[in-house]
Amino acid sequence: MELATPIKTLGRAYAMKTRLLEKLGLYTIEDLLYYIPYRYEDMSLISEISMVQAGENITVQGTVTATKNVFTRRRNFTIQKITIEDTTGEIECTWFNQIYLLRTVHKGDFLSVAGRVEQTGNKKSLFVKEYEILKTKDMPPTHTGRLVPVYSETRGLTSKWLRNRISDILTSKDVKIEDFFPKDFLEKYNLVDLKTALSQIHFPISISDAEIARKRLSFEELFITNMSSLKRKKEWEQKLHTSPFKVLGFASKIQALWESLPFQLTLAQNRAIDEISSDLARDIPMNRMLQGDVGSGKTVVASIAIYISHLNGFQSALMAPTEILAQQHFETVSKLLKPLGIKVKLFTSKIKPKENERFDIAIGTHALLQKSIKFKNLGLVVIDEQQRFGVEQRAILREKGNNPHFLSMTATPIPRTIFLTVYGDLNLSYLDEMPKGRKEIKTWLVPEEKRDAGYAWIKTQIKKTSAQVFIVCPFIEISETITTVKAATEEFERLSKDIFADLKLGLLHGKMKSSQKEEVLSKFKNGKLDILVATPVVEVGIDIPSATIIIIEGAERFGLAQLHQLRGRVGRSDKESYCLLFTQATTETARQRLKYLERMHLGAQLAELDLRLRGPGEVYGTLQHGTPFLKIASFSDTPLIKETRDAVQNLFPNLSSYPLLQEKLKSNIIQKVTPD
Ligand code: ADP
Ligand code: MG
Repeated sequence: MELATPIKTLGRAYAMKTRLLEKLGLYTIEDLLYYIPYRYEDMSLISEISMVQAGENITVQGTVTATKNVFTRRRNFTIQKITIEDTTGEIECTWFNQIYLLRTVHKGDFLSVAGRVEQTGNKKSLFVKEYEILKTKDMPPTHTGRLVPVYSETRGLTSKWLRNRISDILTSKDVKIEDFFPKDFLEKYNLVDLKTALSQIHFPISISDAEIARKRLSFEELFITNMSSLKRKKEWEQKLHTSPFKVLGFASKIQALWESLPFQLTLAQNRAIDEISSDLARDIPMNRMLQGDVGSGKTVVASIAIYISHLNGFQSALMAPTEILAQQHFETVSKLLKPLGIKVKLFTSKIKPKENERFDIAIGTHALLQKSIKFKNLGLVVIDEQQRFGVEQRAILREKGNNPHFLSMTATPIPRTIFLTVYGDLNLSYLDEMPKGRKEIKTWLVPEEKRDAGYAWIKTQIKKTSAQVFIVCPFIEISETITTVKAATEEFERLSKDIFADLKLGLLHGKMKSSQKEEVLSKFKNGKLDILVATPVVEVGIDIPSATIIIIEGAERFGLAQLHQLRGRVGRSDKESYCLLFTQATTETARQRLKYLERMHLGAQLAELDLRLRGPGEVYGTLQHGTPFLKIASFSDTPLIKETRDAVQNLFPNLSSYPLLQEKLKSNIIQKVTPD
């Protein structure tokens, strides 16, 4: 069997769980082996029964002498008691609600039981956490008597089940685990081989063994991620060619567009435009990421690139993740470029192209990917919030042109270490400056006892200055399902009835039809609503300059960079804007973390801080769809990141003496997961 063998072909025990396994993203043997425990329960102390002490977490082993089910008066509540004895004495072990246990465990069985010793009066008993029947006394235990791995579970798929299967696979002679790093490489970087690492990460003898295994697997993950990005870069540069755009030749026209803008571009915008222009003038297609906080003015920069493409006789495509964003881009770009006689078209799931329709710029959602949308000569692709699209979607757009230039945009600040590892194939332009006249958003962490005062203040603001308010409900789950929608709906009803009864409120969530969403948003935009209650996953980029107050509920659930992105929905005009953070967090650390937002106003800084305080999960968390791209390693582990980057630099691109590594890179799943 290979690592790539699908789990469901391994037999009935596996096949029955296929759906649950897939829910956890586990398809192949490899997936299962790389399903890393998130902690270990220390049950390694095996005690003689006579020696156990109350309060200890230990394992005892002995022969079953008695078993019974105890029925209590309460329905749905039973107790199982099994007595075991070894040469030193006997002890009663207790389970709750395991009514079928006595079908599995019988008198005479040799049992290994792990749990906590409790004492009532003179009598000690063991409250069981894990147990297993050992066929022979010297058989090594899997669930007891050791550091026991604990996995993140899903209903119907327990750690115990996973442990059994992973242990089977690791001890099976049929499963080949070959290391794609050669011996000398492992020695050089002081890493254990793959088989050892996988065995030890699941079933370590000691915590330090687990750490050694984790280091190897983290190294491998960072190495492969980084290597893949360099490989993509090389392939891009070697295979792809395009006809260079003329830029200088059109200088006066570009200048004219510049001057027609109702504002002056920031220095950062100018720098980005220069960087993009020189990319466009090369014969290798551009592959650049434009990063900038919400409101830093990425769309104008993209529009100028689109204009250059047009001047060179090429069409452009601009793809955004939601209809509302696409609509917004359509309006902005039209305003800028239509006066120059450029034909801008919007495509969404509802707006389909007509036969032989002509356009210079196609703006839309993933509807742009449809076959029916054809380009004569697509020269530039702009992707907004690129992390919400996959590699395949980029590829489809590329196929619609002849190696078009790519400009990806994101408002998610990406710390430098992460950028270099994951996006080694992209060049970066960074808008580190906000347009003039923008004021910092006044931010307060509001203690719960001041909530009512907060509401009262908002009412006054609405009455006095006709302020408009966003209320963002707490983040509950990654993709917006019924639970989130329900929470938002309830909050909306509570606020409408009890708090802001005399004001006009609207509700916005991801499960609404897009026509409904547009209606609510346009009402809000036109001042017909005072307050918009919304879930956090919707419309990160919506631009409503008249909104000046945002309340974020359950702020402790967000990363700092996410909160910064959320608050960026206000402060889009020259009016004073405010962000009120509410939190249920009670610990001082959690509150201190949130307090950084009161004084820090640069996304990139907040992202670096997040990385230090809570790790990368928080930087990316959940506002961004898409899988977090590291499963084992941590982006906070700067020394290891540096070491792997050096290792990659040393090797790349001469991989010919590493055939297994080349294979690994080809099939590499991380590549699929990584936003390209
Ligand atoms: P984002 O980077 O979030 O996509 P946008 O491109 O939507 O930002 O720009 C936000 C707003 O700022 C828009 O209304 C845009 O017209 C305006 N804007 C962009 N650049 C400037 C500038 N240099 N000066 C003033 N306003 C600007
Ligand atoms: Mg934008």
